[in-house]
Amino acid sequence: MKPVLKSSKLHNVCYDIRGPVLDEARRLEEDGHRVMKLNIGNPAPFGLMAPEEIIQDVIHQLPEGSGYSDSKGLFAARKAVMQYYQARNVPDVQIEDIFLGNGVSELIVMSMQALLNNGDEVLIPAPDYPLWTAAVSLSGGKAVHYLCDEQADWFPDVDDIRRKVTPDTKAIVIINPNNPTGAVYSKEMLEQLLEIARQNNLIVFSDEIYDKILYDEAQHHCMASLADDLLIITFNGLSKTYRVAGYRSGWMVISGNKFVAKDYLEGITMLASMRLCSNVPGQLAIQTALGGYQSIYELTTEGGRLYRQRELAHRMLTDIPGITCVKPKGALYLFPRLDPKIYPVKDDQQLVLDLLIQEKILLVQGSGFNWPATDHLRLVFLPREEDLTTALHKMAEFFDRLRKE
Ligand code: PLP
Repeated sequence: MKPVLKSSKLHNVCYDIRGPVLDEARRLEEDGHRVMKLNIGNPAPFGLMAPEEIIQDVIHQLPEGSGYSDSKGLFAARKAVMQYYQARNVPDVQIEDIFLGNGVSELIVMSMQALLNNGDEVLIPAPDYPLWTAAVSLSGGKAVHYLCDEQADWFPDVDDIRRKVTPDTKAIVIINPNNPTGAVYSKEMLEQLLEIARQNNLIVFSDEIYDKILYDEAQHHCMASLADDLLIITFNGLSKTYRVAGYRSGWMVISGNKFVAKDYLEGITMLASMRLCSNVPGQLAIQTALGGYQSIYELTTEGGRLYRQRELAHRMLTDIPGITCVKPKGALYLFPRLDPKIYPVKDDQQLVLDLLIQEKILLVQGSGFNWPATDHLRLVFLPREEDLTTALHKMAEFFDRLRKE
């Protein structure tokens, strides 16, 4: 038999967060090593458990969740999502404009597959959450990366966006709060981005999965509440705020100028029907999550566990000579910069591999987030303070050795 090759559709698709370095981490674990996994934003394994109310509610309703649901999702869950956005002043949100999915991930892929023809361009931030780029490539589109500016708190570089719009540009993706940078955009910045979309007839995809994971009084503005004349698609879900990433529960809300998108929405509806429905027990968690006590704020306000961990990780990291880091205002990540004069890194994946092998700490290289240089890394600050302290001491030793090489 001839070798079985993967589809050429996957040639430009890349998803390094779960990439080749992870295979090495698995091997080390199989050899009996404990690997500190600072690579994935998965709160529950670090003891950041889901609110008990959500878990009990899902257990209680489980018998009712045995069958398929409507392809767009359960009515009660979609109604809860609708009310969530109505309360955020998103104009004219209707139940039929809400699709539930197996996490935001599935909906990102679905929204791109339903939209793109070969060669269509989508503006995506650099650095990005790389699933956006992968989904565009998988759908035959071209991801065009616009720069976010580290010197400006990682806000998007509006001039760079304007330069990169072409007649083939269909849409712009905004990730706010941002993974990996932790930036939370001001209303003025969002309005500038909307203006670019308006002038160039672009669809706006707004990934707001970290909308409630905010620090230092940062305020999140829901993009869709700021314009009713553009087609805006908002993504959010339970994985982060409610710490149930394993339930695979997310949603997508179409708002604004929906009237131009009848055909596109038919396409999305068809893709939703083809996968029958999303995980129903995950959908059952939505109403309680959105309507219940918002325990996330206990974690993110001063003195809360995520707040303290962010402080500690940021301080210890920036104490290492040659490492700087814009302090995140949202989300769960630090995206530090290695001064290239002190650490002339040629291959950042190799650097991450060396750190893994030498110190048993797993991070993701900046280039995995479509960052165009090899001078950044991403780490999550989910582990408890004791574990973060140990990990960051080890990182400091690793970088000490690197400086002396
Ligand atoms: N969007 C962003 C910005 C993320 O960081 C993640 C996960 O890390 C996702 C989407 C996917 O989330 P899920 O599929 O668990 O809803």
